[in-house]
Amino acid sequence: MIRLEHVSKSYKTSTRPALDDVSVHVDKGEFVFLIGPSGSGKSTFLRLLLREETPSKGTVHVADYNVGKLSRRRVPRLRQRIGCVFQDFRLLVNKTVAENVAFALEVIGKPRHTIRKVVPEVLELVGLDGKADRLPNELSGGEQQRVAIARAFVNRPLLLLADEPTGNLDPDTSQDIMLLLERINRTGTTVLMATHDHSIVDAMRRRVVELHLGKVIRDDARGVYGVGR
Ligand code: ADP
Ligand code: ADP
Repeated sequence: MIRLEHVSKSYKTSTRPALDDVSVHVDKGEFVFLIGPSGSGKSTFLRLLLREETPSKGTVHVADYNVGKLSRRRVPRLRQRIGCVFQDFRLLVNKTVAENVAFALEVIGKPRHTIRKVVPEVLELVGLDGKADRLPNELSGGEQQRVAIARAFVNRPLLLLADEPTGNLDPDTSQDIMLLLERINRTGTTVLMATHDHSIVDAMRRRVVELHLGKVIRDDARGVYGVGR
């Protein structure tokens, strides 16, 4: 699903590479934590998958896409296959819960009858069936993140990228969000989650890829956040 081969990324304004000879393979259906201190290259890793950046060296594949070589007109199609969830939710504040989710389908031209059918289904999946007509600011942080996950997932992406999705949530709410991401993972969606949240990584015992100064320093099948630290 994801294949980085000897990927380096150097930004023009930076002295050291943000990623330095990184090779990582992720199979379809895996759940992977991407960890490392601030500045270690996690965001760069995610941006390369979305073709928000191109590699300076090496190759990036997502599904059948050679992401670094993709022509400009094919980039939207790649991004349609990737759902994204962020720490700050990024909902449309003037749209209801249902409209936020529907909008993700409208912009890719899904027919109205499909939207009417799948929006309630995905809201039920994330546990928000009663909240379709609420505005984001009428919801708790955890509920807002559920909306964001519904929106990211409604198009059944191959890959879900989550960048610190629990960063603004209390521990109990974070756990609920992780149960939801696990549920989505069980549908076959590959999940890659960048996080600083020790307790979540330690509780889940999933694959952990650790970056430090742009290099992969650890790749454990059932990892914890810190080994011997
Ligand atoms: P993380 O997400 O782990 O904090 P980043 O990928 O954001 O790491 O950053 C890795 C390194 O690349 C850092 O040294 C950072 O300063 C640098 N960097 C990130 N984005 C840019 C950019 N747009 N321009 C220049 N340097 C950048
Ligand atoms: P319209 O009135 O033109 O249908 P809306 O802004 O009411 O537009 O809704 C936009 C989309 O959001 C619609 O296609 C609809 O399927 C979906 N939607 C809106 N409200 C709900 C809801 N309560 N439950 C399910 N889907 C909804």
